[in-house]
Amino acid sequence: MPLSSSKRIRDITVNGSDGWEVFNKARKMIASGTHVVELSIGEHDIKTDKEIINAMNTSALNGNTGYAEMQGIHKLRELIAKRNQERTGDKTTAENIIITPGGQAGLFNAHMATCNEGDKALFIDPYYATYPGTIRSVGARAIPIKTQSTNGFQPTFEEINNSASGAKSLLINSPNNPTGIIYSKETLNSVADAVLKNNLWLISDEVYESQIWNGTHISPRSIDAIREQTIVIGSMSKSYAMTGFRCGWIIGPENIIEDMLNLATSTTYGMSGFIQDAAYFALTKGKAFEEKISTPFLRRYKLAKNIFQNDKFVKLIPGDGTMYVMLDIRETGLTGTAFANNLLDEKKIAVMPGESFGQAAAGHLRIAMTVSDDIFAQSLIEIKNFAANL
Ligand code: PLP
Repeated sequence: MPLSSSKRIRDITVNGSDGWEVFNKARKMIASGTHVVELSIGEHDIKTDKEIINAMNTSALNGNTGYAEMQGIHKLRELIAKRNQERTGDKTTAENIIITPGGQAGLFNAHMATCNEGDKALFIDPYYATYPGTIRSVGARAIPIKTQSTNGFQPTFEEINNSASGAKSLLINSPNNPTGIIYSKETLNSVADAVLKNNLWLISDEVYESQIWNGTHISPRSIDAIREQTIVIGSMSKSYAMTGFRCGWIIGPENIIEDMLNLATSTTYGMSGFIQDAAYFALTKGKAFEEKISTPFLRRYKLAKNIFQNDKFVKLIPGDGTMYVMLDIRETGLTGTAFANNLLDEKKIAVMPGESFGQAAAGHLRIAMTVSDDIFAQSLIEIKNFAANL
């Protein structure tokens, strides 16, 4: 009899589901030779810029292949601090920052550093599909706070406050995956009030902060009253099309960053120096480069808006940014899961069911705008016709 794995690791998924079933099914179909249009994963349709890869190569060839500074190389942390300060007004130094293997590891570290075993850790629904598993993997209890589509999926003070008793942390994500909305100033003030009232750590996942076409992104560390209890997660993945580099960061109060160093010592032992040099090089290219990466998503969002305008069965959720667009398909009478499975089987188009992102997104689909404009528009027309013919 093989020894069993720990309860904690088995509990990462509930009922064996992690929300990625349709995606995995599509990948199997592709592996067996079926042509599938993937509108599922948040992966750009362009490759990482060659100049960034050259910077990585040069660094490695120059011998930067040993252990790097555990907290992250100083010049990279300094640059991220400067960028954060310029964009948010939050006074930031290199000591407020630790470099992590992607935003995902940042999310794990932030919960590890704030929650004890069995603590309640809150997060806003709809949510990025990994959130509950990330929280459970540190032994905390993952508690979703359901928002309302009628309120544009913006959380209210009451919604947070009603679940907050005894909780340790609240995880928010704006610009939001899957909805594409950004939280308004009013929403962030309500979040701040709820966080203060309930003594919560606020963990703010801002990996889409450079992909915005409507409104302004507000980082909660720019709100004085909650700065010392707010931890920001950032990443090179989405802004610079560097998903495979696995390079992200955490911005937080110095004391918690210091504690996270102990976690790094006993887990990752820091990040590769040549990857960090590539990230540094990329970040020096600044906003113009970030805009180049985000422009196709705005273009495709506009295509989607036109295609579903006045449609009887599929309603587009007005988005403000990210690389996704949400469709409300409740008029078809199908769940998001059933719709996505049927669409994959019959039309060979892979989308993510809203249910993978929580109950608030049930009856919706998340469409990744990550194929060429032509294929994107053509696939959306197929989705539209598919819904009408059900
Ligand atoms: N947070 C959100 C909301 C995401 O959508 C993703 C990836 O899709 C991540 C974090 C993790 O990104 P990475 O680990 O590539 O930085």
